[in-house]
Amino acid sequence: MMRANVFKDVNKSGLVEKPIPKAGPGEAVIKVTLTTICGTDIHIIRGEFPVKEGLTIGHEPIGIIHELGDGVTGYTVGQRVAVNAITPCGVCNYCLSANWSQCGGFLGGWKLGNTIDGCQADYVKIPAAMANLAPIPDELSDEDVLLTTDIFSTGLSGAESAEIKVGDTVVVFGQGPIGLGAVAGAKLKGAALIIGVDTIPSRMKMAKKMGADMVIDFRKSDPVKEILGITNGRGVDVAIEALGLQATFENAVKSTRVGGTISSLGVYPGDMASIGLPNKDFGFGLADKRIVSTLCPGGKERMRRLIELVRNERVNLRQLITHRFPLDEIDEAYELFSSQGDGVIKVAITP
Ligand SMILES: [Zn+2]
Ligand SMILES: [Zn+2]
Repeated sequence: MMRANVFKDVNKSGLVEKPIPKAGPGEAVIKVTLTTICGTDIHIIRGEFPVKEGLTIGHEPIGIIHELGDGVTGYTVGQRVAVNAITPCGVCNYCLSANWSQCGGFLGGWKLGNTIDGCQADYVKIPAAMANLAPIPDELSDEDVLLTTDIFSTGLSGAESAEIKVGDTVVVFGQGPIGLGAVAGAKLKGAALIIGVDTIPSRMKMAKKMGADMVIDFRKSDPVKEILGITNGRGVDVAIEALGLQATFENAVKSTRVGGTISSLGVYPGDMASIGLPNKDFGFGLADKRIVSTLCPGGKERMRRLIELVRNERVNLRQLITHRFPLDEIDEAYELFSSQGDGVIKVAITP
């Protein structure tokens, strides 16, 4: 048997005993050595994103291969691997169109902790193992690569979808984990000026460490006004929305130059129709502004690239891990992470 953190009911989750999963054909079972809690897990527990009762939560696993199913070649038991939150099959039409996160259809690539048992547990079963197990180089620790499994992949994908060009001016609304990943992504894509927007001091400080040139405190001044001032009234080339709120989405549209791109990473709870487009700022549909949305790509090749960025010190993700908990104290970890207390950015959970 093993421990697993499961969704029980709205605002109810906790550890239960479950059998250790068995690897079927093409699958692998990983002994989880490190994982984390995602903002999406909070949405799940609050009942804002429905999953079935008893499902193990969590989609960001680092671990050691415990068992390989029939037909899985190229890996060995005991090998250390990272697995992305998105585990595409690698063979469906969506995957072969490079829409890894939409494998098999809408959101289909997100399986762990959504449609199948996730990784806030001692063991987790990984589907399509040969498409998804990414070996970790010996010189990197579990903590070094933990955040490649979701938040950095997602943040970077917001910068990639926006097609940031060398010399662009970029604003990122929200300096939570995803927003901080987007700042790092904008820097990697060659932005000339990166502006972060938040109000929590620890996050504003971290934004600079991740590559932001300046950070606007939205409680102290109107970010749209500030951004238009900084850009001589022109607006930014790219605005990345990393929160999922009407106000930030609207500010992203307002602060983007005509012909610019609004890249949406936030998860919008409730009715999407409630997220209105500020018509005048969208130029009544005539301003050549572009809105793109992205769910992070997954699969082992994506992971290999992200791990290479860490290995060659192009990005430091470890500094985002501010708190550490054993799996037995996962309830405390959830409490801290969801209350955003004590300067928390990401928590690491060790089974
Ligand atoms: Zn996540
Ligand atoms: Zn697929």
